[in-house]
Amino acid sequence: MSPLIEKMLTLQDRDRKILQLLREQRDVPARKQLIDSRLQAHRESLKASQEEILKHTASLKNLEVEIEGKKDLIKKYRDQQLQAKKNEEYRALEHEIANVQKHIRAFEEKEIVEMERMEALQKTMGEHQQDFQAEEKQVLAEFKILEQRVGNIEGELAQMRIERTELIQGLDPAWLSRYERILQKTGNFAMVPVEKTCCGGCHMTLPPSVVHDARRGTAITTCNYCGRMLYAST
Ligand SMILES: [Zn+2]
Repeated sequence: MSPLIEKMLTLQDRDRKILQLLREQRDVPARKQLIDSRLQAHRESLKASQEEILKHTASLKNLEVEIEGKKDLIKKYRDQQLQAKKNEEYRALEHEIANVQKHIRAFEEKEIVEMERMEALQKTMGEHQQDFQAEEKQVLAEFKILEQRVGNIEGELAQMRIERTELIQGLDPAWLSRYERILQKTGNFAMVPVEKTCCGGCHMTLPPSVVHDARRGTAITTCNYCGRMLYAST
């Protein structure tokens, strides 16, 4: 294999690594989003249970206000009883008080049920909070790894570019520009080996003269079908 071909293959190896690193760099935001989407589901469950508790707290508060109001009403009736001049008046107030007490008992029973419900809601929220925190810890750890990788990609890219600059020194500009064009077009290989009588890129059978030229390796030989540059692997 000619030193030129060897140099071009090394260049191709660096360029393929650069392309791979660039693809990895491009995929970082999507990967971040994917990681964060796992947290989003937990975030929503937690928020829903917190809102449920707020709603429930308000309805419990309402019940307490209702009970307090009824108790005040009883006090008012008791005061009126003290000033009652007639027995009927006194008994009528006693009847009213009994009615209000019935209401209070109903409210208090409801309050007990609501408080039990509140306990269940708080337990659920606690569980959601734990799940969220566990997932958040995991997600943050993954973000950190990803951030480190982003930094490493930058470093590797810089290194590959330095090596590339050195490699293209002294390369035939015609070979180089053709190589770069094909690499851009195919997105994978610009230089492929001749495999028996076929192109190592598109696997089409090559004319004998092309195979012959590629084996000699003195000029650029390209595949008639995919345009890739050919070299003899042995
Ligand atoms: Zn081909």
